[in-house]
Amino acid sequence: MGTIAKNMRHFIDLIPNHVKIVAVSKTKPNEDILEAYNQGQRIFGENKAQDLAAKAEVLPSDIQWHFIGHLQTNKVKYIAPFVTLLHAVDSFKLLAEINKQAKKNDRIISCLLQFHIASEETKFGLDMTEAIAILEDVRFKDLKNIEIIGVMGMATYIDDELVIRKEFGHLASNFKELKASFFKEQDSFREISMGMSGDYQLAIEEGSTMVRVGSSIFGARNY
Ligand SMILES: *Cc1c(COP(=O)(O)O)cnc(C)c1O
Repeated sequence: MGTIAKNMRHFIDLIPNHVKIVAVSKTKPNEDILEAYNQGQRIFGENKAQDLAAKAEVLPSDIQWHFIGHLQTNKVKYIAPFVTLLHAVDSFKLLAEINKQAKKNDRIISCLLQFHIASEETKFGLDMTEAIAILEDVRFKDLKNIEIIGVMGMATYIDDELVIRKEFGHLASNFKELKASFFKEQDSFREISMGMSGDYQLAIEEGSTMVRVGSSIFGARNY
């Protein structure tokens, strides 16, 4: 068994059944993806729209492709025909464009709202006030071709378990608050995407329903 197959099998056996594994295959070739696929993995994550579209075209059609990175509005059209879930929606403008492209393709596209939970400075991710502003926007209810099914976040890249745990706990509490205020009647609003190779265990303990694991499955990335 190859290394990727072994790693994939390890994670499939290790991660509890209520947590989905997104195998993050960004920068990795199709043969690596197939090695994981042959162990039964069906959810793969990418963060470049054109790379994703190229891979989806030639790889098995029962793969569920997740877009996990920051998405520019002008790139939505490349993945709208087939993408299963967008993890990092952080503006009304992006949501409106996803809706527009989903409608063109006669689909409803599932999305997660990305929260900024880390102490690191990054321009991506919402705080609670901004998320509420999106959900209360008068135009929001007209977006019939998107469905928000949960939240996503990235913890600070740090060794301090307490800090990471606190940030994941913060995301889980944002999820609960939004669920109670906006999505009580919507069963599909149930996903908390948090946890990567270095911190997935803590994320699961704090309530993750989806871990995004790349290098621990496919090895280090060469950019
Ligand atoms: C690259 C990436 C991952 C996977 O990171 P690893 O540390 O390789 O597991 C997860 N989430 C996002 C948003 C990423 O960009």
